[in-house]
Amino acid sequence: MACCLWGKYAEQLEEHLQKSNDSNVVCLIRFAKIGFYKGDVQVTNAFDASLIQFDPEFPETLALKLRVSNDEYALALTDTKREKRLRKDHTVHWNNVEIKSISEIMMAPVEEGCKIICLIECMDTDWSWFYFGHNSCKSKALILKSKEGGILFSNEKPLFWCTSCHATVTSVAPKYKLHMFVKDDTSTCKLMMLDSVRKLIVGCEAEELWDGSYDEIEDPAYLPQPIRDLVGKSLCFGVTLGSENVANGSDVFLVSQVCSGDKILQIE
Ligand SMILES: [Zn+2]
Repeated sequence: MACCLWGKYAEQLEEHLQKSNDSNVVCLIRFAKIGFYKGDVQVTNAFDASLIQFDPEFPETLALKLRVSNDEYALALTDTKREKRLRKDHTVHWNNVEIKSISEIMMAPVEEGCKIICLIECMDTDWSWFYFGHNSCKSKALILKSKEGGILFSNEKPLFWCTSCHATVTSVAPKYKLHMFVKDDTSTCKLMMLDSVRKLIVGCEAEELWDGSYDEIEDPAYLPQPIRDLVGKSLCFGVTLGSENVANGSDVFLVSQVCSGDKILQIE
């Protein structure tokens, strides 16, 4: 949508751009005028009545900046899609699903659920083992910080922006998201586990393993003991082959199910 500023507003914008090193500027126009120009909607200043502010410190502005400038945005989009698919997958009857080898799932021609029996070799510590998720929708929530880097609070709770609800939220908690390298006799691949990991770490919520810090993780190689204990285990996983695997050849598979109880198949 076009935005046309003139007079002192254009000068203010020009001046701000000269001063600012930031390539992404959020411009808030209050009392703006919505008009039409050559058939398209256009926002302009309403003569001298409009007020213009650059990068104001509102949660909405900070969230908007995060979403357009942050690499995590792409990740957040994929996550929502994956998690939606995960929910849909409850209709898969995992007891009836075929057990396949890793080399078979790498070459799978169709999107489907299947099982693999494999050994957890190590955790992929390029990724954090948890993400902050909005409690009601489980989607990724981004912590909101001021320009100086301080966390914003509302009623003493840190403020987050939910990437799915598109709203500021405070009911946020760490949720599991484990990336791990696994192998069988045929090949190796990566698995990504969300909440289904709880079945392996019996009765333990991600929040209980979390150190309580909202700061960025200084040492992603540090993992809580119950997660480190997973390394070396041979387990049967129900994985969901998505279009990123079948069409795009991704070797990262989403775990939808851990076959538990008497169905845990030990290959050693
Ligand atoms: Zn949400």
